Amino acid sequence: MKLIAIDLDGTLLNSKHQVSLENKSALRQAQRDGIEVVVSTGRAYFDVESIFEPLGMKTWVISANGAVIHDPDGRLYHQETIEKQQAYDILSWLESENYYYEVFTDSAIYTPQNGRELLEIELDRFRSANPEADLSVLKQAAEVQYSQSGFAYIDSYQELFESDRPIDFYNILGFSFFKEKLEAGWNRYEHDEDLTLVSSAEHNFELSARKASKGQALERLAARLNIPLEETAAVGDSLNDKSMLESAGKGVAMGNAREDIKAMADAVTLTNDEHGVAHMIKNLL
Ligand code: CA
Repeated sequence: MKLIAIDLDGTLLNSKHQVSLENKSALRQAQRDGIEVVVSTGRAYFDVESIFEPLGMKTWVISANGAVIHDPDGRLYHQETIEKQQAYDILSWLESENYYYEVFTDSAIYTPQNGRELLEIELDRFRSANPEADLSVLKQAAEVQYSQSGFAYIDSYQELFESDRPIDFYNILGFSFFKEKLEAGWNRYEHDEDLTLVSSAEHNFELSARKASKGQALERLAARLNIPLEETAAVGDSLNDKSMLESAGKGVAMGNAREDIKAMADAVTLTNDEHGVAHMIKNLL
């Protein structure tokens, strides 16, 4: 095995959003053995930096669900952006339908000023409609969104199109506690030929350019590094990992992965709270 691509949330990060000592030393061991360790996440690049800098590790980073690739020294290697008019149309729809949204760009993650309020209102509505629902699980889902760094707050998406400096749109995330709102997003964009639609967690859907996916980014990077795909492995837990698990020679699902991801993977490792990545690396080496 010459390259391992690793998802972050639900995979390398435990439920406290941390990299365990076990996982950290397994990554180091892999690097010492000459394996190219690649981080592959829906998070933004600057967010990945803030997680990895304290670890003192340099790796290739695929971010924003495959829209962006940075080399280990932090230089931009490749990007696939959503066309401006298309970004405008998506955002005007999300805003008019009162979605909490996040816009991943080259400079920040833009999110509405009233984002937390929007989610609190949704949570209240959800609670009245589903009195038996476990609110702590829902609150945790929202916390994953808030645990990112690099937010910038906007009153409306329109601000993003008034700026003098053109913005590169990598990824647009819509979030809701309501199944119907998530389905509305899927129905609207599933068959759009210019877009890739995935989901990294139960309560969101994420849009990027057609050629932006974790799988296509892995293929591009393997070609750049002259590593045949058969000698690559990838590990993840969600729908946004499916393309990379398919592209890699060996696709591994986390023990905590969605059932459909486990079913399509070549192997299943332990959960993220059991250092599943370390376990997988030990098995590969
Ligand atoms: Ca994940």
